[in-house]
Amino acid sequence: MSSVLAKVDWKSQGFRYFPLKLHYQRLFATRVQKISLDGGFTCPNVDGTVAIGGCTFCDNRAFSPSRRVRRDAIQAQIERGITGLRRRYKLEKFIAYFQPATNTYGPLDKLKTLWDTALEDPRIVGLVVGTRPDCVPDEVLDLLDEYAQKTYVSLELGIQTIHDASLHWMNRGHDHAVSMEAMQRVTDRGFEVSLHVMLGLPGETSEMMLQTADQVAKWNPAGVKLHNLYAVERTPLADQVRAGEVRLMELAEYIQILADFIERLPEQIVIERISGDAPPKNLVAPEWCLHKGSIIRSLTDELVRRDSYQGKNCRMQGLPREPS
Ligand code: SF4
Repeated sequence: MSSVLAKVDWKSQGFRYFPLKLHYQRLFATRVQKISLDGGFTCPNVDGTVAIGGCTFCDNRAFSPSRRVRRDAIQAQIERGITGLRRRYKLEKFIAYFQPATNTYGPLDKLKTLWDTALEDPRIVGLVVGTRPDCVPDEVLDLLDEYAQKTYVSLELGIQTIHDASLHWMNRGHDHAVSMEAMQRVTDRGFEVSLHVMLGLPGETSEMMLQTADQVAKWNPAGVKLHNLYAVERTPLADQVRAGEVRLMELAEYIQILADFIERLPEQIVIERISGDAPPKNLVAPEWCLHKGSIIRSLTDELVRRDSYQGKNCRMQGLPREPS
């Protein structure tokens, strides 16, 4: 994608932070939605390569190394996704989002087949690939670079936190040094990088969460996805929450730390998400995280109350990074 896009002046449009819809509006000149696609991947944190069982919050029972997803299955998922989204919105353009599991954990020819299949549909205008920091070998990054010359590409990396004790608690299977090393290699490529971060991990103080914010600001990715720790059925975390061993944040606490976090980020980082994506029937707790609209309103109200906005307390303003 061209790097000669104008900076988005989200403040003058009444926002307190840079929302994804303005970023997409700038890139595509229309509204687009992501279609979640299951490419049949598993995860090295599930299959025993780095750990067994996966992250403590991840319902990964459906992941299996033997899963094969055929071209026509991807086409069918796209068709279903587009039909569903068109019922709700009047949309013409969509982004293929390889979301469940670790979507770079496979041979290059599998990745290429999946990505080509998605992009051959003329209604698909971009590719988003979700993965972990220990699954981004240079050959995969080079391949993503090739796609980025023809279309919009974003690599989503689950960083979650910079604190090794928390990564260990969640059975992440890698430490912060791995994230640092991956960020060195994914930065300054032709595609965007978006980081996932979780707030409210057990044992993390506000100060620790803001240390993660400062590191994210230093990395200066294109986007960030933030959410509170929440528990879904069939996970170790659900058992820990039910047993009272893990306390999840209340909405008011989350809004405070979320506002603090966003104040620390440079204003050109897109805030792609501020709440989790749990299917209501699988959510164990907290119930408030199902109400996305209310979380957005609460955050905006808090930033207004503080007379604040994204970047207000950022120590890294002015880092050079052209929007991709
Ligand atoms: S890295 Fe992602 S896919 Fe793998 S177990 Fe953790 S949350 Fe699940």
